Amino acid sequence: MILSAVGDERFPHSHIKDHPMAVKAYGTHASSNPLEPMNITRREVGAHDVKIDIAYCGVCHSDLHQARDEWGGTVFPCVPGHEIVGRVSAVGEHVKGFRPSDLVGVGCIVDSCRTYAECENGAENYCDGMIGTYNGPASDAPGHTLGGYSQKIVVHERYVLRTRHPEDQLAAVAPLLCAGITTYSPLRHWKAGPGKKVGVVGIGGLGHMGIKLAHAMGAHVVAFTTSESKREAARALGADEVVVSRNQEEMAAHEKSFDLILNTVAAPHDLNAFLVLLKLGGTLALVGVPPSPHTAPQVFNLIKKRRSIAGSMIGGIPETQEMLDFCAAHGIVADIELISASGINDAYERMLKGDVKYRFVIDNATLAA
Ligand code: NAP
Ligand code: ZN
Repeated sequence: MILSAVGDERFPHSHIKDHPMAVKAYGTHASSNPLEPMNITRREVGAHDVKIDIAYCGVCHSDLHQARDEWGGTVFPCVPGHEIVGRVSAVGEHVKGFRPSDLVGVGCIVDSCRTYAECENGAENYCDGMIGTYNGPASDAPGHTLGGYSQKIVVHERYVLRTRHPEDQLAAVAPLLCAGITTYSPLRHWKAGPGKKVGVVGIGGLGHMGIKLAHAMGAHVVAFTTSESKREAARALGADEVVVSRNQEEMAAHEKSFDLILNTVAAPHDLNAFLVLLKLGGTLALVGVPPSPHTAPQVFNLIKKRRSIAGSMIGGIPETQEMLDFCAAHGIVADIELISASGINDAYERMLKGDVKYRFVIDNATLAA
């Protein structure tokens, strides 16, 4: 059943069905509801806008956190999705960088202040005015942004990325737009490379990209997983060593040895177990955003080796393009399981169980059905 916003009091804009920019989407009207089909509208193509027919959209754990309002602040209806790839179908009159039929991507950012230092320096991800691809303020209906679980999107050209991968890899490129950049940016910031020992905790969507990228950068990579079943698979992704983090002996063998540990886990846990693995001056970089806090770190575990706990959020637009080009040059894409839009609720349940190798990607053509 397609839920139409027409005649629905939750949608004041009852002309939506006949709207020239009406598109089909999957989303939810409440945190306790499953995702379901719905009709949404996109704005008219402005002078600097790019209109994209979305081919595929990756399924990030942040989509689940926000659809279920686990972080608070979700506005409904919520159409998640910020790992978008597709083909340009129209451009505004002032758009210089893109033409119809170009293959492009859109990640987590669709607008920012474009004025102050963060934006000037290409760090739109740290701009206080950053607008997320979904759940951010917007002047067009319904008053907030709606994401990539939809047939089309209209985005200012500044936030559109170019993909140089072969077209037949397009579905597997989608997760680079969030999982790729979210791991690439901290790996670059903390200088993962030859001679560095880098840990990646949690082998899910982000973690499997972290392993591939750190390996391609030349670091010695150790994967930490709670899943014995991922031991061999993590090596195939490029990990030099794999530690099942529930095994105390395996953990102890790596004490005081890491330059950087990238923690992607989506649930609260004891950070001390990883802090003690850092060598002098090492950094535990958190990218996973659990709905409730981690166990507080013990100060002695920080001061004894001048260790740091840090955080990192996605990446800016220039760095996202750099990451896409790095991945194209190194033949890196995500390992994916392609699903139809109607499979999204099952996919969320399987993601919670860690039962995906390693990213679900929606085939957006199935939205037309
Ligand atoms: P994911 O695919 O679900 O992967 C998370 C992995 O963490 C799991 O595969 C699992 O790996 C491990 N894990 C261990 N215990 C877990 C538990 N109790 N619950 C869930 N996972 C557990 O998620 P993702 O898409 O990679 O996202 C990971 C986190 O990063 C989420 O919190 C997401 O919101 C956040 N995120 C942050 C940013 C940012 O900018 N900082 C960007 C995107 C996403 P093993 O089986 O190997 O243990
Ligand atoms: Zn994401």
